[in-house]
Amino acid sequence: MSLEIATAAFVLRARPYGESDRIITLITETQGKVTGIAKGAKNSRRRFAGTLEPFVHVRTVFRQRPSSDLAFLVRCEFLGVFRRFTSDLERFAAGSYVLELTDRMVFGRESGREVYRLVADVLALLDAGTPTEPVLRAFELHLLAASGYAPALDRCRACGTPADGAERVYLSVARGGVLCRGCVPAGEAVRPIAGATAVELARLAAGPLAGTTARLSARTLVEAAAVAEHLLAAVTSGPLRSREFVARARVDSPETLR
Ligand SMILES: [Zn+2]
Repeated sequence: MSLEIATAAFVLRARPYGESDRIITLITETQGKVTGIAKGAKNSRRRFAGTLEPFVHVRTVFRQRPSSDLAFLVRCEFLGVFRRFTSDLERFAAGSYVLELTDRMVFGRESGREVYRLVADVLALLDAGTPTEPVLRAFELHLLAASGYAPALDRCRACGTPADGAERVYLSVARGGVLCRGCVPAGEAVRPIAGATAVELARLAAGPLAGTTARLSARTLVEAAAVAEHLLAAVTSGPLRSREFVARARVDSPETLR
């Protein structure tokens, strides 16, 4: 008989499995990312009543089976829900992106409370109506750092010259940060970005998520989004479906497709 474990969690992903079961992926407070089977989820109001949905905060009880990577979900109790995601398309897109990116960046049980806390904080900020783009950039940078990929954006990776005051710096994914013009080796793949964008991204990475404000200009935000996408593409495989959805659902972007 395996031990039952209880922990708070957010649902990252739910897939139907067979006639009445569902496979659920959760980011938990104390157990990292857990994927488990919810037997009879479609019919069991008692064990899973309305909890196996995105943006619902739950207390999950599961058993880890020694012979399987898939946990057995015993039950999920409702703790709360962020309601705004179901009434605002831009926020729904941003929140869906947060969940998908977390699922893609976190492997198994290795993540600590930090990632769970990060997801809880960013969902709360988005639900409270905070402008989505700066919050998403801060989230991406914090998640990269929590995953061991914190980029060095405030100064040249090679010589230490501050990005502040530089008109342009050169992003090198291979070196995990930016280089000044003089330090870019011939033939190295780099992406030129405004020094001001690198400084703003470094500020978002260093500051608390809750302190994220819309101080960034529209132009900086567009470039910052491209830089973050570039950094994430280096450590995730394949496109994130919800990222394009965020761009299309945005109401305040010059790139909006409406
Ligand atoms: Zn340099």
